[in-house]
Amino acid sequence: MTALPGRAGPPREGVARSPAPYRGRFAPSPTGLLHAGSLVAALASWLDARAHGGSWIVRIEDVDRPRCIAGADHAILGQLQRLGLVSDEPPLWQSQRGDAYAAALAQLQAAGAAYPCGCTRKETEAALAAAGHAPERFGELVYPGTCRDGLHGKPARAWRLRCGTDAAPLHIDWQDRRLGPATQDLTHEVGDFVVRRADGLWAYQLAVVVDDAAQGITDVVRGEDLADNTPRQIHLQRLLGLPTPRYLHTPLVRATDGHKLSKQNGAAPLVLDTTADVRAALQQAAAALGLPAINADTPQAWLAETTAAWARAAGLA
Ligand code: GLU
Repeated sequence: MTALPGRAGPPREGVARSPAPYRGRFAPSPTGLLHAGSLVAALASWLDARAHGGSWIVRIEDVDRPRCIAGADHAILGQLQRLGLVSDEPPLWQSQRGDAYAAALAQLQAAGAAYPCGCTRKETEAALAAAGHAPERFGELVYPGTCRDGLHGKPARAWRLRCGTDAAPLHIDWQDRRLGPATQDLTHEVGDFVVRRADGLWAYQLAVVVDDAAQGITDVVRGEDLADNTPRQIHLQRLLGLPTPRYLHTPLVRATDGHKLSKQNGAAPLVLDTTADVRAALQQAAAALGLPAINADTPQAWLAETTAAWARAAGLA
């Protein structure tokens, strides 16, 4: 495969003529240490920011408290530092951002775009089964809309976002810098999704949209496993009156069994004890991005040369 940013034709136009100063981010969830797969997203986002002469910011996405591991946030920041990838601004912790998420939810409520839902997962499964279908994607049920018009006497649990109706389905078209044009029927493929969970925690979709806007992020560069979330995020951005950043989803690193390398399936944390370890990790990530192998004396020199290779591939140099 050729180097990433050059692959999709038309989106390149927007890359060089950025109206707002480029601001990119890497947004790890501290549910474990960085592994070979997450480094691909970290490196690509850093290279793209540097190639554009922009800023790169680390955001710790620790809203899903039960899944976070104590100390993993600082351990990830330490790994990034050893790799030479250092946030240009103090990192932001999403656990500190509850007020901003609450304000966004209030805005959605005021607009009638969000509604309380009293259904348990079991009830949703039963409603879907009774309707003769149980559409599910990645373990998430496509909510049948039971509480759209009221709670039916049940206590409110989660807050959901309206995503079109059968009569007027909501299609989101978007453009990815690597994957090209994409479309999603949010109504039927996703359904009214949760923005505040029944356990009171903020949903990833809401938090990421609020923070990308608050941090002035112009370019989201992240793993392809997250591409499917993009239409939900664009829908939220539109409802909240926020700008939509450009998106670039990087290829996934697969384990030998073909599955995506992830913390959930036990991807080994990166070992970065020596300069040779750091070099090997960076080189492996660059190879996954289709970048040429570069030999340099120090990680800093390697990063500088690899940035130049990325910029050439993106048509920036
Ligand atoms: N926190 C997410 C993750 O670690 C990434 C979110 C994003 O880049 O939008 O998978």
